[in-house]
Amino acid sequence: MHRKPMVAGNWKMNKSINETRDLLKEIKPLVEGIEDVTVVVCPPFVGLAIAKQELEGSQVHIGAQNMHWENSGAYTGEVSAGMLEGLAEYVIIGHSERRALFGETDETVNKKVLAAFGHGLKVIMCVGETLDENQAGKTAEVVSRQVKEGLKSVSVDQARGLTIAYEPVWAIGTGLAATPEGANDVHKKVIRPILRELFGREPGDAILILYGGSVNDKNARELFSQSDIDGGLIGGASLKAASFAAIVQAAR
Ligand code: PEP
Repeated sequence: MHRKPMVAGNWKMNKSINETRDLLKEIKPLVEGIEDVTVVVCPPFVGLAIAKQELEGSQVHIGAQNMHWENSGAYTGEVSAGMLEGLAEYVIIGHSERRALFGETDETVNKKVLAAFGHGLKVIMCVGETLDENQAGKTAEVVSRQVKEGLKSVSVDQARGLTIAYEPVWAIGTGLAATPEGANDVHKKVIRPILRELFGREPGDAILILYGGSVNDKNARELFSQSDIDGGLIGGASLKAASFAAIVQAAR
């Protein structure tokens, strides 16, 4: 099945309002007219309104990096799915930094996924094993659990708005990307069969599986040329317009 590739930039906790505007002004002309890749940028919450202004009329999509599962209430510092409506089209959920540093679990990831879909947001759900789990040969076990638990009670209809990002934790921000074949194997042999099992063959095959972890303008082409890598979730390299645009080109 042909899947239109996606390249999404996770800016993490980087870029002030002015820097957000400047970076988007640089990115826009570099990716203008590219119809065969879905391009997404995910600035911090405070940059979303600026991004919306700046990207008016462009085909670059906007994502948030996180959200709370409740609609409103006494959750100091949190932002709900309802608050993202109209600002962001996508939301990243379950990034490994959120799991490792902010106590997110498969259960809270699942609550967030369901709340996001409930508000019509599209979800980029991150999964991936740690170095210890990898070295103990537990990659398939961990990734399967994260996918199944994270997607509990998601309907086939909601799954149309789902993208999975496989991001081995040991590859994030380390400069040590997974081998293209190794990442492809996890996509093809671990994640895709679960998506088919959960949603049926055709809907399961339509879901994008991105790779994330030290993707750059040098290694992107080889990673994306694998049969089951449908694009990338890009951290560090998404903060420079030229490298981000080169990665988008590599996905074409
Ligand atoms: C990420 O944070 O999602 C990521 C993949 O980071 P990096 O590209 O910097 O490894």
